[in-house]
Amino acid sequence: MAYIAFIGLGNMGGPMAANLVKAGHRVSGFDLSETSLAAAALTGVDPVTTLTEAVTGAEIVITMLPKGEHVVAVWETLAGVVSAGTLQIDCSTVDVESARKVHGIAQAAGCLSLDAPVSGGTGGAAAGTLTFMAGGSAEAFAAARPFLEAMGRKIVHCGADGAGQAAKICNNMILGISMIGVSEAFALGERLGLSHQALFDVASASSGQCWSLTSYCPVPGPVPSSPANHEYKPGFAVALMLKDLLLSQEVADACGATTPLGAAAAELYRTFEMEGNGGRDFSAIIEMLRRQ
Ligand code: NAD
Repeated sequence: MAYIAFIGLGNMGGPMAANLVKAGHRVSGFDLSETSLAAAALTGVDPVTTLTEAVTGAEIVITMLPKGEHVVAVWETLAGVVSAGTLQIDCSTVDVESARKVHGIAQAAGCLSLDAPVSGGTGGAAAGTLTFMAGGSAEAFAAARPFLEAMGRKIVHCGADGAGQAAKICNNMILGISMIGVSEAFALGERLGLSHQALFDVASASSGQCWSLTSYCPVPGPVPSSPANHEYKPGFAVALMLKDLLLSQEVADACGATTPLGAAAAELYRTFEMEGNGGRDFSAIIEMLRRQ
């Protein structure tokens, strides 16, 4: 059993912390939201009201926060509080630059550090079936692995500091592009008089097969669990998809990579969000594509 501090108990962090409790660890939790703290307390997390209180004495600190600026601010505070040798893991999705910056902060304080963003959404967080993509030293990865295994099913060491975030951003650029591709195909099929089921049956067994089609189909019917069957409740919100696509474009610009489809996907999601759809599931973009 380890003593773990979990910072950021929102839609993802809450169930992830609960799975660490289920695995037998002692978990103290901190969040700025009283609602998130109260929900975490119901799952066995020990809720505390300050960051310092949460991390004092903890062997491992895990952060699951909205953006890079939040992670940098929290890890800067941690540097003055945690003991040397503490393992710090950031599971948020953030830009590669912030990820590398917080590795530097932790390592200067004598801590082991890992960036370990996740894929699998809130369902995967609750079921303990997330995919973790980790960046950091072999030592930090080995130390973190048993704890990541309590929250996920597939754990991949992608390389040095920041490599987990790089993999996450590339993966989600594929996801944004593929959801638009699948949505365009269904919108075209509708105009051609094809039923949703007929197109699904063909494409899911053909070269058009992909996760956006077979696990997250953007029209109701073929995949009963997809948000299209539940009024496009997220799932994975448009605002988060846009955030990840913008991260991919920032880093592509910075390193001189050419990503024309990633850029187009970011623009389409930006337009869709500006129409007031930021809180809906990202597969709802089919509605805008039908109109266009
Ligand atoms: P969320 O908004 O539900 O939770 C974030 C939590 O962090 C909130 O409860 C907020 O109060 C808390 N918080 C913010 N600043 C804080 C601070 N300084 N100290 C303590 N708590 C603070 O977001 P989420 O959906 O849980 O996402 C968290 C991260 O996971 C994001 O980076 C997101 O991109 C990533 N992610 C989300 C999903 C998803 O499906 N929701 C999937 C994969 C990755």
